[in-house]
Amino acid sequence: KGPSGPSPDTEAVLDTGDDFSCSDRLAQELRGALDRGELMLHYQPQFSTESRHIRGFEALLRWHHPKLGFIPPDAFIPIAEQTGLIVPIGEWVLREACTTNRLLQEAGVEPFVMCVNISAVQLQAPFFAEHVLSILKETGHSPEQLELEITESKLIDSWETALHALNLLHTQRVRIALDDFGTGYSSLSYLRRLPIHLVKIDRSFVEDMLHSSKEKALVESIILLARSVGIDVLAEGIETEAQLECLRRMCCDCVQGYLLGKPMDREVLWSYMQRYRQE
Ligand code: C2E
Ligand code: CA
Ligand code: CA
Ligand code: CA
Repeated sequence: KGPSGPSPDTEAVLDTGDDFSCSDRLAQELRGALDRGELMLHYQPQFSTESRHIRGFEALLRWHHPKLGFIPPDAFIPIAEQTGLIVPIGEWVLREACTTNRLLQEAGVEPFVMCVNISAVQLQAPFFAEHVLSILKETGHSPEQLELEITESKLIDSWETALHALNLLHTQRVRIALDDFGTGYSSLSYLRRLPIHLVKIDRSFVEDMLHSSKEKALVESIILLARSVGIDVLAEGIETEAQLECLRRMCCDCVQGYLLGKPMDREVLWSYMQRYRQE
């Protein structure tokens, strides 16, 4: 391969992430990725802390490029957002996640919540809510079992559009979760203004919680705050038993993390749920 040829090394691509030509190239590749079937979803289980039962799964997008290899979502989602490709990709994610959940239930698995990450760009696109509702109808997925995870980061510029879309979805009984809670600047105003069902405590808090009494107090306050206004709390990024035990003591409703289950592809999810049913 010549100096201008494609690099097969994913790391190299990531290291030069802010190189303009490089993200241009990724954008070009991403355009075809959906059609070529290079995108797929992995599913990570979420558990009720007390019963340890599965409450749901988070759908996480994966891109396997034939030459560049595995490209993590943190590397290509920002590009998808800049180019607007996140809109068709996001619709594909929703359709795929709802279809998977529907098929599992048809196979007799007990109903659980399917959580899908929604970019602020999607939320502000015209007819977002209508598209979600039509995908629900098309896949036969029930709205109560769909949870949309939104982040506070970039939402602010089009507050009215987002609010309108989320309120419409809320009246149709779709669940809304606030992702990466506590990492933005306006967490409280999101809680006040949006119809939120669940708050996801960011992994960074969980990571530091056992070494810093300040972080621990913050986690505890978030849990108390959310619960006092009737919102469920899920902590993400649980990697150790000690973290799990600490969150259980603080009455955190739900947990998600490598300790309890890593993201898995559809086939692995399928056998995982068959086993789960028998237990
Ligand atoms: P997120 O929504 O905060 O997702 C959680 C991330 O933490 C996932 O990374 C997950 O694999 C990882 N994770 C889960 N448990 C643990 C743990 O115990 N320890 C550690 N160290 N990590 C854990 P992933 O899959 O690389 O996704 C990164 C981000 O990309 C997501 O962060 C989300 O913001 C975005 N993303 C992923 N899929 C989609 C999608 O379909 N649409 C949109 N708009 N964004 C997505
Ligand atoms: Ca998420
Ligand atoms: Ca998160
Ligand atoms: Ca995140």
